[in-house]
Amino acid sequence: MFPRPAQWAKPAVMSLDLSILAAPQRRGACPTLDVPMQTGDGLLARIRIQDGRLEPGKLERLATIAGTYGNGIVEITARGNLQVRGLSPAATGHFARAVRQIVTVETGLVVETPPLCGDDPLEVVDPRPVAAEIRHLARPLNDMLGPKVTVVVDGAGQIGLADLKADIRLVASSPDDWLLTVGNHALGSTQEPVECAQIILAAIASLGLTGRGSDLSPIALRAQLAERIADAAPTLQQATPPIGPFQLFHDRAIGLALPYGAIAWQSLVAIAQDEARFGIREFRLAPHHGLLAIGAQEGIAAEAAGLGFIAGIDDPRRRISACIGSPGCTSGHIPARSVANRLAGVVPDGQHLHVSGCAKGCAHPRRAAVTLVGQHDGYGLVIEGTAGDTPVTILRADQLESAIGPSGQG
Ligand code: SF4
Repeated sequence: MFPRPAQWAKPAVMSLDLSILAAPQRRGACPTLDVPMQTGDGLLARIRIQDGRLEPGKLERLATIAGTYGNGIVEITARGNLQVRGLSPAATGHFARAVRQIVTVETGLVVETPPLCGDDPLEVVDPRPVAAEIRHLARPLNDMLGPKVTVVVDGAGQIGLADLKADIRLVASSPDDWLLTVGNHALGSTQEPVECAQIILAAIASLGLTGRGSDLSPIALRAQLAERIADAAPTLQQATPPIGPFQLFHDRAIGLALPYGAIAWQSLVAIAQDEARFGIREFRLAPHHGLLAIGAQEGIAAEAAGLGFIAGIDDPRRRISACIGSPGCTSGHIPARSVANRLAGVVPDGQHLHVSGCAKGCAHPRRAAVTLVGQHDGYGLVIEGTAGDTPVTILRADQLESAIGPSGQG
């Protein structure tokens, strides 16, 4: 067990060396179950399910109420949260109450752990006790931290969280040692992960609701944490997609993913109802739009593929990001997900295609090898850029395959 500091020490904030602080940037809010966000296709609610763990019956009930109140599509985000779109203002209260009758919804600081933790024979240590301690001790700071502030506590098992952004990242290098990264800066290793997180979160909170770990000076942080960290070489952590079979201590998990992060609610109901047939004891939401069937037999992969899930690592849809587009989103100029399905077979290996309904680029805010952006006059083609960049040309619908395929680029 890790020693629990008496309480979050506000004096640590008061005595903070102000050189730790750099200029913060303005950041937006996140949709929640209680405060959904207005989008082009109605209100969007994001549900942080405690531990991301769901018995099959609960997944079935959640999918059913999502189908009842939302637009019929259920999403699992890149960070492994459940998301429902198309809610009307009148429906949001009913929807939130119905969700809470099924699952416990997390609020407060986001502290993420890998989806297999505790069952993973390859992880260095179960990260959940450290995560729980950080979450508990952060409560007094919850109103002082921005909604996007995130702590990742990773036991370095089969499904790592290396490519999820984090303000504070702790990765186990031995059962007692954790590699500590703040923003993009590796600070060293520590045997006091909870205390380090406590000090860093207090520093972020002192910046106000726009503060992030990347706003802190790594040099000053190293000085502040000098007694708690030691030099350590950063290690390259792999971010394994949660797809395919994973051996657990007592049984196995089969990883599935939602194409473009979305699937019809009926497919989730159907996979949940396969509980007895394939021996599923639990589902876990996973990063990269993943859904892990814990205890499942291999046969579930073929069943899931038939229901529209991604069930294999080679599925070409994994090379594409696509938002809902038109007609679901009123800002969309193109039906992005149907265009993505049409082009899935022609995207070259190792390349990433982003199909965006408009220049906002919700599905993939980062650069992609190729981006197709819906415009009033066609498909804007952006090479090595984002949906908001100026297209090099405008394509017609019948030109897409030849432009995207192996011979079309360059
Ligand atoms: S990027 Fe897609 S989901 Fe986002 S506003 Fe544009 S059309 Fe809508």
